[in-house]
Amino acid sequence: MKSIKLATKWGDRESPYIIVTEPLKKTIFKQLGMDPKTTEKAYIQKQDIEEILGESQLPSEFKSELIKVLGKDKISEDPWARITNSLGQSYIEMLRSRISDISNTVELVVYPQSHEDVVNVVQLANKFLIPTSTVAGATSVTLGIEPTISGMIALNLKSMDKLLQVNKDAQYITVQSGILGPQLEEQLNHQGLTLGHFPQSFEYSCLGGWVATRGAGQNSTLYGKIEDMVMGIKLVTGAGKTLTTRTAPARAVGPDINQILTGSEGSFGIITEVTLRVWKKPRKTRLAAFFFRSFEEGLHAYREILQNGYRPAVMRLSDSEETYYNILAQTLMRDPPKMPFLYRYMLKFMERRGYLIGERCMGIMSFEGDPKLVDLSLKKAKSYCKKYGGFYIGSRPAKSWHKRRYELPFIRDPLIDYGILIETFETSTTWDRIIDLYYNVRKVLKQECPILWTHGSHFYQSGANLYFTLTAPQEKDNEVEQYYRIKKRILDTFQMYGGTLSHHHGIGRAYGSWLPPEIGTEGIKLLKGIKKTLDPNGIMNPGIFDF
Ligand SMILES: Cc1cc2nc3c(=O)[nH]c(=O)nc-3n(C[C@H](O)[C@H](O)[C@H](O)COP(=O)(O)OP(=O)(O)OC[C@H]3O[C@@H](n4cnc5c(N)ncnc54)[C@H](O)[C@@H]3O)c2cc1C
Repeated sequence: MKSIKLATKWGDRESPYIIVTEPLKKTIFKQLGMDPKTTEKAYIQKQDIEEILGESQLPSEFKSELIKVLGKDKISEDPWARITNSLGQSYIEMLRSRISDISNTVELVVYPQSHEDVVNVVQLANKFLIPTSTVAGATSVTLGIEPTISGMIALNLKSMDKLLQVNKDAQYITVQSGILGPQLEEQLNHQGLTLGHFPQSFEYSCLGGWVATRGAGQNSTLYGKIEDMVMGIKLVTGAGKTLTTRTAPARAVGPDINQILTGSEGSFGIITEVTLRVWKKPRKTRLAAFFFRSFEEGLHAYREILQNGYRPAVMRLSDSEETYYNILAQTLMRDPPKMPFLYRYMLKFMERRGYLIGERCMGIMSFEGDPKLVDLSLKKAKSYCKKYGGFYIGSRPAKSWHKRRYELPFIRDPLIDYGILIETFETSTTWDRIIDLYYNVRKVLKQECPILWTHGSHFYQSGANLYFTLTAPQEKDNEVEQYYRIKKRILDTFQMYGGTLSHHHGIGRAYGSWLPPEIGTEGIKLLKGIKKTLDPNGIMNPGIFDF
C-alpha cells in the first residue's frame, strides 16, 4: 500500500528519508524533555488511497468537454496525482499526511502546456462553475494549495517550463511560470546571467509560486525579493481572459498592475509567463563570518552596513540559541561526532574574549559582483561589524552554511516521525521595533517550544525580517490543536508588536483571518473588488482572499 505520508516527503520521493544521527537525536530529545528511548511512530494507514479518496465528484459532461479541448494526456484522475496536488509543506499538512486525514483533495489534475491550454481550462471551469486551484512546486507552507472545499480541480503548471526570451543587453528574460529554480538558473548561468533568487526551497519550487507568494531568496539583500525582479506578467484571469502587462524598466501609468498580481496567490488568476530582470553572473564572490556578543549588536552592525549604502548579497544573523545549535551541528552531523580542531580552538579563543556560549551570535555574509566592489564592501562591512563588537572569524563557517544551505528541511520528516512538532514562522518589521518584537515572540513561545531558533535573513535599510524555527514535543492526541494554539500565539504576537503577518511565505488559507488587522477594512474591500473583477464567479483558489 502506498503511504500518503510520502506525499509530503521533502525532496525526491524515491530516495530514502534521512537518518538523524544518534548524538543529534539524543541532544534534541534531551532539550525537548523527551524519553531517550522514543522510537519513530508507526503511522498505520488502514485504507488504500483509492478508498480514502472515493469516486470523483465532477460532472461527467465537464470531464468529456475537458478531454475534447485538451486531449486525454494532459489530464489525470490518478489518486496519487490528486493527493500530491492537494498537499503542501506546512507542518499541519505533513502531520495530516501521516494520519491519513485528508479532508479534501482535488478531483482531477490538469497539466497545461501553454497559455492557451490554461485559457481553455479556466473558461470551461467557469462554464461549469468548477473551483480551480493552481499548483506549481507544492512547497507552500501556508496551505496555499490545500483545497478547502470538495469538487475542485488543480492546474499543475510544471510542464510550462520554457525560457522563452533572453535579452542579454537589456538584462531581462521571459519565462513560463512552471519552471523549477535549478532549471531556470542553469540556463541563465550558461548565458553568463543569474536571477539571484535562491529560496531555501529553490530545488523544488517554481517561478509561478515565487511570484504568486512574493517569495524571497537567500541573496535578497542584493537582488531584492521576487517582486523587485518582476517586470511583466501574463495572466489568465479567473474569468478566462488574458491580461498582459507591458515590459518597462519603470513607468507612471497608474497603480502598478504587476505588483497587484505579484502576491495574488492564485486567487485572481493564473500567471502563465513572467518577464524578469536578470543580472550578470558575479565575477567574484567572497564569504565572511562574524561573532557578535549579542543579537542586538549584530543587528546594529547590519543596519549600519545597509544605511551606509553597502549591499552584501547574503546577510544572515542567528540569535544565540540558533548559533549554539549551528555550532553543535558541526560536531553532531559527523560520524563519530567530533569538532574539527581549528573550530574548537577558535571557540575557546572567542570565549576568552567574552563571546560566551548562550550569548554569542553568528553572522554570515556574502559579497558578489564586480571584484573591486566586492573587496571594498567586505572591508567596510568588517569595519561596521567591529564598531559593534563583531569579530571576523574568517570565511569557513559561511562556506559551510553555503554548502549545506538547502539541507535543513530534510530533517523535518524524521523529527515529525519521532513525535516532534517543527514549524517555521516569519515576519518583518522596522529597525525601531525589531528588538522588542524578537524578545516578545521568545517570551510568548519559549515555554511551549523548548527549542526556538531565530535568525534574520533579509535585511533592508529600514528594517529586517525575523525567521523563527520552533520545535516542541507533540502533545499526544492533541497534536492538531497544539499546532493551532501555537500558530495563534505567534501570529497574534507578530501583530501586537508591529511585525507583518508574513515577509515571504504569503497568506494562503492559513493566515487569512489575521489579514483584516494587517490591511484594514478598506484594504480588504479593495482586494475583494479586484477579486470580483478578475474572478467574477469566485472559482480561483477558493479560501484565499475570499473573506
Ligand atoms: C523547506 C522550505 C523552505 C522554504 N524556503 C523559502 C524561502 O527561502 N523563501 C521563500 O520565499 N519561500 C520559502 N518557502 C515557501 C515556498 O517554497 C514558497 O512559498 C514558494 O514560493 C512556493 O512555490 P511553489 O512553486 O512551491 O508554489 P506552490 O506551493 O505550488 O503554490 C504556492 C501558491 O502560489 C499559487 N501559485 C503557484 N503558481 C501559480 C501561478 N503560476 N499563478 C498563480 N498562482 C500560482 C498557488 O495556488 C499557491 O497559492 C519554503 C518552503 C519550504 C517547505
